[in-house]
Amino acid sequence: MVADRRAEEREAEAGLHRANNTNVSRIKVQEQTDMIEIENVKKIYTMGSVEVPALAGVNLSIAQGEIVAIMGASGSGKSTLMNILGCLDVPTSGTYTLDGEDIGSTTDSRLAEIRNRKIGFVFQTYNLLPRISALNNVELALMYGNHRNRRRTAQEALERVGLADRMRHKPTELSGGQQQRVGIARALVKSPEILLADEPTGNLDSRSGEEIMQILGQLHSEGISVIIVTHEADIAVRASRVISMRDGLIVSDSSGLTAGELTVQH
Ligand code: ADP
Ligand code: MG
Repeated sequence: MVADRRAEEREAEAGLHRANNTNVSRIKVQEQTDMIEIENVKKIYTMGSVEVPALAGVNLSIAQGEIVAIMGASGSGKSTLMNILGCLDVPTSGTYTLDGEDIGSTTDSRLAEIRNRKIGFVFQTYNLLPRISALNNVELALMYGNHRNRRRTAQEALERVGLADRMRHKPTELSGGQQQRVGIARALVKSPEILLADEPTGNLDSRSGEEIMQILGQLHSEGISVIIVTHEADIAVRASRVISMRDGLIVSDSSGLTAGELTVQH
């Protein structure tokens, strides 16, 4: 069912491309480019008269279907980079191209559409509404837009993260690991192309954290691109690619290295 829906969405997306872009050769070029292309991205926060450089010139390419872990000390710019990748924020300078589309020059309404259609977010603190059931929390993500079978879609997403028997429970009646699984289900219902998780295991014990990483790994093997910010090196080496940040810059990128070589590096 889920695969069917994704196929349908891809078809709709392709139709949109065809309608918007009659230049066939340009479509071919887009297919060959990376899904995410970040070039010399800087982000400067201004607080009164003080300028805080959160990103100091980041270059990064991520292909569709990758699983990437981002590591680095607190304050190194990881969340700022995630917010830009997720189109929640825009760079001060530099370019971000997502699926061939220049994010910097697009309108707010188009940004909202991209967030809604392509990107799923998972938060460290789950961000669930405490007084309504897991099922209602997930359904709520489908309130905007013209979704058919909201209830069934939400149920399927919860089944996918192993919560078939907990759908009627409220967040306060669930463990941290279960709440985070609801958070993942909520991100999944709109069949995102990219899942962005900013320290998804940060509030969990190691066993629950491991379960969450297993689910993210499973989603990756089903074709979703997954980008995870994490502190734990042992969790990070499960990703096929580990990026380290320091002072607003990428200081290492393991693409090409094996997990074994990485462990030696640390
Ligand atoms: P990380 O997620 O790696 O801990 P952040 O991206 O949250 O790092 O922050 C990077 C730097 O930018 C830090 O110095 C932080 O204090 C600053 N920063 C982040 N968000 C804001 C903001 N909204 N306003 C001002 N400064 C910010
Ligand atoms: Mg952060």
